[in-house]
Amino acid sequence: MWHHMMPYTPSQNPMLVSGGEGAWIIDEEGNRYLDAMSGLWCVNLGYSESELADAAASQLRQMPYYPLSHAHKPAIALGEKLNQWLHGNYRIFYSNSGSEANETAFKIARQYHAQNGEPMRWKVISRYRAYHGNSMGALAATGQFQRKYKYEPLAPGFLHVPPPDCYRCPFGQERASCHLECAAMYEQVINWETPETVAAVIMEPVITGGGMIVPPLEYVQQVREICDRYGVLLIMDEVICGFGRSGQPFGYQKFGVQPDIVTMAKGITSGYLPLSATAVRADLFEVFRDDREYVHFRHVNTFGGNPAACAVAVRTLELMEERDLIVRSAQLGEKLQEKLIAALREHPNVGDLRFFGFLAGIELVEDKKTKAPASSEFVSKVVAACKRQGVLVGKNGDTVAGYNNVVMLCPPFVIQEEELHLIVDAVVQALTEVG
Ligand code: PLP
Repeated sequence: MWHHMMPYTPSQNPMLVSGGEGAWIIDEEGNRYLDAMSGLWCVNLGYSESELADAAASQLRQMPYYPLSHAHKPAIALGEKLNQWLHGNYRIFYSNSGSEANETAFKIARQYHAQNGEPMRWKVISRYRAYHGNSMGALAATGQFQRKYKYEPLAPGFLHVPPPDCYRCPFGQERASCHLECAAMYEQVINWETPETVAAVIMEPVITGGGMIVPPLEYVQQVREICDRYGVLLIMDEVICGFGRSGQPFGYQKFGVQPDIVTMAKGITSGYLPLSATAVRADLFEVFRDDREYVHFRHVNTFGGNPAACAVAVRTLELMEERDLIVRSAQLGEKLQEKLIAALREHPNVGDLRFFGFLAGIELVEDKKTKAPASSEFVSKVVAACKRQGVLVGKNGDTVAGYNNVVMLCPPFVIQEEELHLIVDAVVQALTEVG
């Protein structure tokens, strides 16, 4: 019996993980598993990158800790690098997790409006099926009831619009003839709430943890325009899509928009140390540049921007540049897409295949014609069958609406091209076994 708690207790058949090599993890008995989920969507450089261990060790020896009410070189270097990757001029606040990065974004948005003469702007619009974190604000922004159930009431002021789910359009439309009612809904809600009360919209470029919902290109552009029209800040949650996962430095760059605030975590250190960041447009941050009490950004945490975590993040981004890993991520994503389409498009239990960079979602159904979703148990069996073949895949979706039916893939960028077929073969074989 272990003494630590596991997320989602009771965890099914937990492994005792003791090592890793490239895209593979190794358990205590020496079994090897190809990790097609990069841990929890983060270990982009794989499990054996000694350069990252060295960066942490050398920084810990030189200067292990000091609060960021002052400065240290790794935080400064990371801020510079992030600005290059963001393609903009941003001020960066460091925290430790994606949830905290989003909480920080909400506070910046509210205080910005208050100091800009609009103190009534405090509401945040998110989407059903989105996941933004486990803390009271970030969970309030989350649009998945099953994660909130029994923890409510959460933070007030968070509203949700339907997701841009083209496979199961909440507006009953077909993609070819739709008018992006899902994007127009933002404008409706802003007006219903009255624009003077709305502070921000938060979205991921694609909804990842809610079942890989990939919007049309124009959807994100339209939301950006609506935000501009009503003075609402656009917060882009890049916790999963950032750092090359999309085939671009950040996922929003695929849509040709520039957010006001960007939140990031996970891949920033390739999961090697906890770190997150909230980037706010430098011109917006001007209203915080004031030493008067209650005017400066009154927000602090003990560990955010830890020197070793920042040093690992800088090295992560350098290694990605030196090894051209963003291009590699895009190429591997294309290859995975080709293979999955060839192997699964006609499969009777595969309703939809969705892709974004080196991310894939396989929506499983009982019936292709009616789109009746595969049961959560069916998908769990598929995931377990993949594991028996030595491949770890994820599972997600919308349990509230009765389906948790999307198999998720988010492999490390260091996976070998020849290893991709192991993932595809495992899913095909698992569907045959379980179906
Ligand atoms: N935002 C998104 C899109 C996420 O997927 C997650 C976590 O999976 C979070 C925020 C929260 O990050 P963390 O678990 O580091 O708090």
